[in-house]
Amino acid sequence: MAKAKVNKKIAAVGVELPECPVCLEEMSTPIYQCLTGHSLCSTCTTNLRPPFCPLCRQAMTQTRNWQLEDMIERATVPCPNKLAGCVYTMVNMEVEDHLKECIFREMACPLGAVFGKCSWSGKLNAMSEHFKERHPDNFNVDPDAGITINNTSVTADDRHMYLVAQNKFLFIISFKIDTMQKMAYWAVQHIGNKNLLNSTFTRYM
Ligand SMILES: [Zn+2]
Ligand SMILES: [Zn+2]
Ligand SMILES: [Zn+2]
Ligand SMILES: [Zn+2]
Repeated sequence: MAKAKVNKKIAAVGVELPECPVCLEEMSTPIYQCLTGHSLCSTCTTNLRPPFCPLCRQAMTQTRNWQLEDMIERATVPCPNKLAGCVYTMVNMEVEDHLKECIFREMACPLGAVFGKCSWSGKLNAMSEHFKERHPDNFNVDPDAGITINNTSVTADDRHMYLVAQNKFLFIISFKIDTMQKMAYWAVQHIGNKNLLNSTFTRYM
């Protein structure tokens, strides 16, 4: 049997996350047990052909190790984007939610999503630089001044989008004319961590 790794991963609270006795990686859920009671990580269980425990050669069962699963879900872990610079830690079961708003996640250029004009994707903290280089017309907005949109007809559908950086916050300001609904919309959306700022507010005119 392989020797346990010396450099075990330590959770932020100082609790050592249990590791799988077969692959020696951190345990991941769901955790199934063999007839003898060994608990294997979900990856190892899935890859067993035939489904016999590598430790004791007994058959694997459908019995879950709920206590261990619960402990893993509650363990505090660093953000998966830690290497990119995120210092956020959270319990395992909140990782998915955090990743949706982690400012160190990869994001597609908002102009690409709406206008199909740009295929750039990168970290949020690189987005200002990207707009400066590639979409200066959509970036040079003075946060204290108004935005003037020229050559816009209210009888045709139209959309404009701007990126505004203020302090460490980034906002997307979009303007839309919808002739079907006879409406003009302004929306100001904060992109980034909603814990730093309430996320979205929209004003209809
Ligand atoms: Zn494993
Ligand atoms: Zn076993
Ligand atoms: Zn993060
Ligand atoms: Zn772009």
